[in-house]
Formats: sequence, structure tokens, C-alpha cells
Amino acid sequence: AKAAGRNGVVLFERAMLADAQDKLTLERDLALALDNGELAMHLQLQVDHRGAPAGAELLMRWRRADGSMVRPDIFIPVAESSGMIVSLGHWALRQACEAWLALAAAGHAMPLSINVSPLQFRQPDFVQQVRAVLAETGAPPHQLIFEVTEGLLIEDIGQTIVRMRELAGLGIRFSVDDFGTGYSNLAYLRQMPLYELKIDKSFMHGTPHDVNGTAIVQSILSMAGHLGLRVVAEGIETQAQASYLAEHGQPHMQGFLYHRPMPLGQVLERLGIAPST
Ligand code: C2E
Ligand code: CA
Ligand code: CA
Ligand code: CA
Repeated sequence: AKAAGRNGVVLFERAMLADAQDKLTLERDLALALDNGELAMHLQLQVDHRGAPAGAELLMRWRRADGSMVRPDIFIPVAESSGMIVSLGHWALRQACEAWLALAAAGHAMPLSINVSPLQFRQPDFVQQVRAVLAETGAPPHQLIFEVTEGLLIEDIGQTIVRMRELAGLGIRFSVDDFGTGYSNLAYLRQMPLYELKIDKSFMHGTPHDVNGTAIVQSILSMAGHLGLRVVAEGIETQAQASYLAEHGQPHMQGFLYHRPMPLGQVLERLGIAPST
């Protein structure tokens, strides 16, 4: 038993070493990925209750030179722990502004949502950086929605509110991503210039069959109603989910039932050229 235990420990240490090694390799490769043109921003269209496109979320994609994809759940945490998310996020914001201009030029001006990591948001020069990208690209700030997580909203609240208000002053709108999975406090939420709550796909998963998930969805919808916030429900995969939402507040929807994330070119193809008016 003792030998097996020791063996177990050795195996465990090897696994940890392999993990650490993987992480270092990922970190090293990610540092080169941007310059090597391996990163791209895909867009996932969101729809209104009638199914009409009403906006899109930008999602980062990493395709290695050998063609293999690295999932965001894998590389975003590495980008966050290494600090690289700051430069990647800056690049992503510029991509979002350029995507907005391309959509608008094709007659499909629509608000674009972009994920902002807490580390990026807390950079002392973040507001300045946002201002600079807006000025350089000429994208309208009121067409950008910054998705932030509840983690950002519970730590260092005073500073967070000041900064959010500053950005809101520029015209930027805010959405709370994965709402309900964290511990944000209603009293604080009221002090923030929020525009939208996003219902996490984990709650949508069981809707409308699972009682617990559905109860959470319902309470988020009613809370948003009270706070005067718009809602986007994510992870919509079935007609049953869509029908439920059509009868419960008609929030905007994002999910594979409607549109998958895809490159801007494909989004433009899908939307077609709108007749000029
Ligand atoms: P998220 O912000 O919650 O993004 C929504 C995720 O749900 C995306 O995963 C999207 O592809 C996926 N999704 C959309 N519709 C459906 C559906 O119907 N069913 C299911 N099962 N999934 C659906 P993705 O693209 O793999 O991104 C994962 C996470 O990585 C994101 O979660 C976000 O936290 C992070 N991320 C992605 N791009 C960026 C970025 O540019 N910056 C930052 N900071 N984080 C990002
Ligand atoms: Ca998001
Ligand atoms: Ca989300
Ligand atoms: Ca999520």
C-alpha cells in the first residue's frame, strides 16, 4: 500500500509537471500568436425575439500554424495569468471597432459586444486606451458594449464604479456576463451604469424542463425588468428554450439555434448587402 501511495505521489507530481510544462508552452506560443497572425475575432450574431439580428458578440479564436484550434477556455486563462490579456484585449477592441465599421458600410450597423477582462479593465491607462482606439478608428462608442464579469463588480467597487462611469461618459455601455454565476450584490449593481445582463448558458441549459434553472432564469428576467436593464440569454440551442423566452419577457437571444460564432466575412455573407436607403 505504501509503495502504491508513493507511486501515486510520483505520478501526481509528473502530471503537475506536465501541466506546468503545457502552460509554459502555451504561454510562449500565445506570446507569438498575435504577431504570427494566428488570432482572429469571430462574431456571433444575437437575435431579437423575432429572430432578427440585433447585435453580435466578438469571440477570440486561436488557430495554430498547423491548423489546430486552441479553445478560449484554455488560452484565455493563460492570457489572464500571464498578463497577455491586456495587449490581446487592446487588439480585440480595435478589431471590434473595425468590424463595426465594416458592418455599417454593408448597411448592418449593430451594437457589438466585447469581453473585457478584469485585468484589462483595471489598467491605469485603460480609459485612455479606449479613447485612443475610438479616435483612431472613428467607431461610435454608443455601439460598443463591454461585457464584464461579476468578479469585476465585487472587487474594488469604488474604483470600478468611477471607471465605469468615465467610460459610460464616452458612450460605452456595460453588460454583466454570466450573470448569476457570481456573487454580485444588487445594491452595488444599482450604482453602476449598467445596460444589460447576460443570462449564463448554464441556466438556459435546463430551461424550461429543469425547475431550478428555469427559476433562476425567471428571477434574472424579473430583476432586469425592475432595474430597467436589457437581457441577452446565451446558449440558446433549442426551440423550446426560445419559445419559453418568447413568453417570458422576450429577451434577446444568442445561441447555436440561431447563429454560431464565425468570421466577419461569413457574417456579412449571411446578412447580405442591405439596400441603401
Ligand atoms: P462567454 O463570454 O460566456 O462567451 C460565450 C460562449 O458561449 C462562447 O464560447 C460561445 O461560442 C459559446 N456559445 C454560444 N452559443 C452557444 C450555444 O448555443 N451553446 C453552447 N454550448 N455554447 C454557446 P467561446 O467562444 O469558446 O468562449 C469561451 C469564453 O472565453 C467566453 O465565454 C469568454 O469568457 C472567453 N473569451 C472569448 N473571447 C474572449 C475575448 O476576446 N476576451 C476575453 N477577455 N475573453 C474572451
Ligand atoms: Ca461574453
Ligand atoms: Ca457569457
Ligand atoms: Ca460563460
